[in-house]
Amino acid sequence: MTFLSISHLEKSFGANRVVKDFNLPIEKGEFVSLLGPSGCGKTTVLRIVAGFESPSSGSVTIDGQDVTGLRPNDRNIGMVFQAYALFPNLTVAQNVAFGLKVKGVAKAEAEARVAEMLRLIGLPDLGGRYPYQLSGGQQQRVALARALAVRPRVLLLDEPLSALDAKIRVSLRSEIREIQRELGITTVFVTHDQEEALSMSDRVVVMNGGIAEQVGTPFEVYNRPTTRFVATFVGTLNLFEAEADGQGLRIAGVPVRLPEAVEAARGGRLSVALRPESLHLGGGEVTLPATVEAVEFLGSILRLRLRVAGVLVALDTFNRADAPPPALGRAVEVGFSARDLVVLNG
Ligand code: ATP
Repeated sequence: MTFLSISHLEKSFGANRVVKDFNLPIEKGEFVSLLGPSGCGKTTVLRIVAGFESPSSGSVTIDGQDVTGLRPNDRNIGMVFQAYALFPNLTVAQNVAFGLKVKGVAKAEAEARVAEMLRLIGLPDLGGRYPYQLSGGQQQRVALARALAVRPRVLLLDEPLSALDAKIRVSLRSEIREIQRELGITTVFVTHDQEEALSMSDRVVVMNGGIAEQVGTPFEVYNRPTTRFVATFVGTLNLFEAEADGQGLRIAGVPVRLPEAVEAARGGRLSVALRPESLHLGGGEVTLPATVEAVEFLGSILRLRLRVAGVLVALDTFNRADAPPPALGRAVEVGFSARDLVVLNG
């Protein structure tokens, strides 16, 4: 059942139409990411849900209540921003208690709630510290605790990990997701980082120019992109020009029979895409000649840069200590299975 509903949302700043007929029903307890490049309108959508911005038209409902006209404080929403935005002159405990105080929650209950929140974020003993005495990651966890203390109906996260260094970012991803699952709180997460969106979300909304281009599980968005933009924005992609002849395709003159699962094109030129992990060295169901141009060692993965039919493509293999990469300049064969092809229409 839909818990948070965003319907026919439109937003223009002057002549600039930044959100275009945006629709998104979200289930209770779902974690949904808005993913897209800078300026695609994701923050604007989030700010409209929070009530910081009013839409030009369209509506937002939470648990059946139309909140479109309500002030932020009357929506019972928790929000965490990129900059920690903790009150520097208040302790961690006072920061977490802030919203409870505003709401007039009794002191004993507020103290119990603060202790519960600090436990939840794994900082049970740091209530007496001031924000400047915490690391960036700890400050962001406190910001999360502060947002959750008032038991909001919806949690909104606006690039909460962007200001942190790489290692903390990765560990906080799973911590935030665990906390979100434990509370079962409906969450909308804004990010331009595809890895974050794919690793954390139940569903991802890929946005482009104010439009939701594709909405799906991480698996669907990655493996079955419906537009060229989604295919190229999410993950690394190898694009080939192909010719369709009604029965199949030709890539660099090599015929490819398409399985039924891959939508056959009617004819003419089109683009097809293959992920780096769908290619392998040596012959396959389809085999193309290639030359090794570069080798990138990524730890568990070896990424080969190959020239195939005039196009530079990426091929990923698992690193194995007993299988060193081929020498640069070597002629090799690249194989793939036709069912891994993504035919791009848009
Ligand atoms: P980023 O990741 O850079 O924040 P975004 O996808 O979140 O990008 P938005 O912040 O929603 O994008 O901005 C979408 C567009 O709306 C941008 O072109 C931006 O310049 C414009 N915009 C946002 N807020 C305002 C405002 N208050 N006044 C005028 N234009 C605005």
